[in-house]
Amino acid sequence: MKAVTPLTISCEFFPPKTVEGVQQLCTSAISLEAIVPHFFSVTFGAAGATREGTLQMVKLLQAKTSTMIVPHIACLGLARLDLAAIIEEYRALGVKRLVVLRGDVPKDGQVLGDFQFASELVAFIREVSGDHFHIDVAAYPEIHPQAQSATDDVLNLARKYEAGANSAITQYFFNPDAYFHYLDECAKFNIFMPITPGIMPITQFNRLVRFSDNCGAEIPRWIRKRIEQYADDHNSIQAFGFEVVYKLCERLLAGGAPGLHFYTLNKAEQALKLLSALQRYHLVKSKPVPNKVVLMKK
Ligand code: FAD
Repeated sequence: MKAVTPLTISCEFFPPKTVEGVQQLCTSAISLEAIVPHFFSVTFGAAGATREGTLQMVKLLQAKTSTMIVPHIACLGLARLDLAAIIEEYRALGVKRLVVLRGDVPKDGQVLGDFQFASELVAFIREVSGDHFHIDVAAYPEIHPQAQSATDDVLNLARKYEAGANSAITQYFFNPDAYFHYLDECAKFNIFMPITPGIMPITQFNRLVRFSDNCGAEIPRWIRKRIEQYADDHNSIQAFGFEVVYKLCERLLAGGAPGLHFYTLNKAEQALKLLSALQRYHLVKSKPVPNKVVLMKK
């Protein structure tokens, strides 16, 4: 019998600003536990803007779910001492995995803090906490907007890998070829860690355009044109968006992606729907956990 490797399925949340938002996040996380995710991650505001929010959400999700909770941590604007304190706080909470980032440069371009790049924070975490944490870093199949060249960006991932990263999660994209080409480039630079594609469900088109413009993710022309044609027909946008992202996930998994990381925007519905549809092709029911399924790579 052919051996199967479990896929790493993870879901990302952001710390909400309102009580209702917190309630919605908890409800979403609890529903998403049905798919037995490998972990839930919680984003971190650059320059510590949501440091407290991230910490509170990590504690809340640890209390409300049985899934591993993985905080993001971003170095921009923070001093070594502050970062060391955050890392220690997480260690004390039993956190075993972190998503380690630089953070976005503020609009005024002012960059303070002790570290300029995520690779430096990865090295710092290894320095202060050894191998305690599994470290994920960000990767960009469509190239980070500030990278000097495509090769420089892969070299940056190599720096993060050499500094001690264990795996990477990509910025979202809609063109699977960008991901597979990126994996080939990474292999040329001896980066041999799992690189999990980040998946952004298509729901609210205007919001997606705004995000994509900021982070450099490309929305292919044919997708934009089709969605523009639907105008305010929300149901058609949802149905089309689902089909596009479902086919993307299918190609990624069929091509050997080690898992999927869902940018949930604190909503469970799309990730649940996608995973349930993908189950026909890629899931094997897990015996020990009744009523739950575990994704397995064929
Ligand atoms: P880095 O790896 O430091 O790279 C940043 C840029 O600098 C790249 O262009 C790189 O090529 C270049 N670079 C790196 N090192 C050098 C060097 N030595 N010399 C010259 N150029 C260099 N942001 C948040 O604020 N909070 C979050 O919680 C968050 N979560 C994220 C999760 C994922 C999975 C992803 C993909 C992104 C996330 N982001 C988050 C966004 C991220 O912070 C931004 O994309 C940011 O602009 C870059 O972060 P990084 O960690 O990739 O930076």
